[in-house]
Amino acid sequence: MSIEKEILASKDHLEGLIRDQLERIKRIKSQGDWTDYSGLKKIRIGLLGGDGIGPQITEDAKIVLAELLQDDIANNSVEFINIEGLTIENRAKHLKAIPDDVLEKIKSCHVTLKGPTTTPEKGDNWPNIESANVGMRKELDLFANVRPVKVPEENIDWVFFRENTEDSYALGSQGIEIDNELAMDFKVITSIGSQRIIEAAFNHARNTGRKRVSVVTKANILKKTDGKFLEEAEKVASQFPEIEWDSWYIDIMTANLLHTRRSEFEVFVMPNLYGDILTDEAAQIQGGVGTAGSANLGKQHAMFEAIHGSAPRMLKEGRAQFANPSSMIKAGAMLLEHIGYTELAQKLDKALSICGQYEKKLLITGRDNGSTGEEYGKYVLNTVRDKNIDEKYEKYAKETQ
Ligand code: NAD
Repeated sequence: MSIEKEILASKDHLEGLIRDQLERIKRIKSQGDWTDYSGLKKIRIGLLGGDGIGPQITEDAKIVLAELLQDDIANNSVEFINIEGLTIENRAKHLKAIPDDVLEKIKSCHVTLKGPTTTPEKGDNWPNIESANVGMRKELDLFANVRPVKVPEENIDWVFFRENTEDSYALGSQGIEIDNELAMDFKVITSIGSQRIIEAAFNHARNTGRKRVSVVTKANILKKTDGKFLEEAEKVASQFPEIEWDSWYIDIMTANLLHTRRSEFEVFVMPNLYGDILTDEAAQIQGGVGTAGSANLGKQHAMFEAIHGSAPRMLKEGRAQFANPSSMIKAGAMLLEHIGYTELAQKLDKALSICGQYEKKLLITGRDNGSTGEEYGKYVLNTVRDKNIDEKYEKYAKETQ
């Protein structure tokens, strides 16, 4: 095709993208309010094993949750539903990020706990299908990715709110290439998309007694998109006069997380890509990606997962049973909190800190010189059931500060 023809085709392509995004804005604006789980007769929790070590750590976490919820499972107010088919093999077979029947089952659940899924990349043998995560976030409009990071001995108690549906991810597979020489991808930021994630961050600060929200962008360079995000932050912040807020650029924020005064930060909110990078850095500060869980929240649906990937090498080397299930158990604690089991969620959270950072009676090494995920899950469960858990946690926090 001649360059002139390629330019014309690109114009049409861009027009299509703009129209799609304008439709998306309309859809967001017409959405209902957040699901009220307390009004449901039965909460349906879907389980998606995913790929690699996913099925193993999802099962390890499910055992813990099912034990903690056994009374409500028995009286039929909570149900676990195994959803098969969110595997790379099945997704490749259907050439879809999420095969239709799997998506239907996911939508029939109120919340899901999802193991990591493999995303095909150049050079591997899988067809180039979209990431299952990106697909799920888009299909269910899971716009808020919430990632807590805690290091009690350093007084670090951060919560990251990463926008989950926009930025460079929204049109990641729909860029343009001209004459094999010029490549352009697109970054999408909308007022409504920014507003709802920033509101979620400020509401979280308000509801949990936190006093500070830090907004992270690169608005000095990306004036239209990140500029809009920052503009929306200013508007939302004015509705939360009791909460202090500040604005940072992503480059200095990556440095701030290593600064001696890092514990002064509380809640962070940012567009998608910066959140992706910054939360991995934060997870490493907590003890590695294997320790961190995340929530993907939408108004009607919510999905909870580890922040790491499917660790295919661990599976290939027969080490899946030695994978750290803490990330998935942490995701499970966030799920419990989201559906209203606040006290249980806090206990599980404390147990994870006690087991992983304080007592360390069992160690996970990812190899057979460490304990298995199942053994570790039992250790966490026994810690939740320990009637002295609160005292233990207090002692831990005091001793290590
Ligand atoms: P990865 O997170 O799978 O692995 C990174 C390193 O961390 C590896 O050394 C791995 O062995 C280790 N690791 C990860 N989780 C662990 C655990 N629970 N216990 C012990 N060690 C653990 O990253 P990757 O290799 O870049 O990605 C593998 C695949 O996962 C890719 O296809 C990627 O696209 C996908 N991925 C999926 C998600 C998701 O589903 N949310 C997130 C990130 C990556």
